[in-house]
Amino acid sequence: MELIDGKKISSQIKEEIAQEVEKIKENEGKIPHLAAIIVGHDGASETYVGHKEKACLQVGFNSTVVRFENDIAEDTLLRKVDELNKNTDIDGIIVQLPLPKHISEQKIIESIDPRKDVDGFHPINIGRMVIGLPSYVSATPAGIVELIKRYNIETSGKDVVVIGRSNIVGKPISILLSQKSEYGNATVTLTHSRTKNLKEIVSRADIVIVAMGQAEFLTADMVKEGAVIIDVGITRVKSDKTKSGWKLLGDVKFDEVSKKASYITPVPGGVGPMTIVSLLQNTLKSAKGEIYAKI
Ligand code: NDP
Repeated sequence: MELIDGKKISSQIKEEIAQEVEKIKENEGKIPHLAAIIVGHDGASETYVGHKEKACLQVGFNSTVVRFENDIAEDTLLRKVDELNKNTDIDGIIVQLPLPKHISEQKIIESIDPRKDVDGFHPINIGRMVIGLPSYVSATPAGIVELIKRYNIETSGKDVVVIGRSNIVGKPISILLSQKSEYGNATVTLTHSRTKNLKEIVSRADIVIVAMGQAEFLTADMVKEGAVIIDVGITRVKSDKTKSGWKLLGDVKFDEVSKKASYITPVPGGVGPMTIVSLLQNTLKSAKGEIYAKI
């Protein structure tokens, strides 16, 4: 079994990005710039935005965080997005979700200029991704593809089973892996809570991607010998063995499944660290005008 080390790969990619940033600075005098909007004081959102800000600084990006209180009006938020859309210094815009109930998340997502939508949530980017056009792919599925690439895992002709059909993970990764492309060409089965005979379907898979949010759901008896296991799930559970009093569990029962797997991602340290790196990669692409024509 080989461990897919997302932490190591994400550090390597950050170094690669930092080198590219230096080149862009030298040649064009430009510094890639990511703007994040955060509404309210949700602990998890604060943590994510903090990590993104830190990662930007690590690779030499400029980073702007715009903060609003929970009672901000939808119109005010829309105006801010519009202002960032028009600001030629900003390459990428992200709005940290979830938003308060009185604000339509979809409306806000659709107000972001698709050319700066580095989270890849805008329907234009999702639509472009589905038909195989250059697009910003959302961070977690993009991170999974990057891991597959860096570990030279063959996907062509393989049977892939994805568990979970969310718009941010399950659905896009199932599309990416079934695309006619270098890291696609797999035969993908997308499963969910209404799937019958899940165990039988999963046990035929060469690659299993689990994104369901059910701690340690996938057990050794469900997987084929030699399967590749990508665990996206993150569940926080109490623990008396850690200083913080809690620990993170994936959707895979790691101890037993790792004995049968050829490759497996740990939690933490697998898919998680790749998510922020993908966001940085998208922002770099925007700064270089790689997806859409330069703004
Ligand atoms: P959602 O909660 O949006 O969706 C969960 C999916 O799992 C649904 O499609 C659901 O089916 C399916 N599901 C739930 N129970 C079962 C079951 N018993 N059998 C089969 N399918 C089932 O999930 P997300 O994609 O947003 O997140 C999934 C997990 O990944 C979470 O733990 C989340 O924290 C983590 N995550 C990690 C990231 C990272 O960076 N590592 C990034 C994003 C998410 P149905 O549609 O029928 O309800």
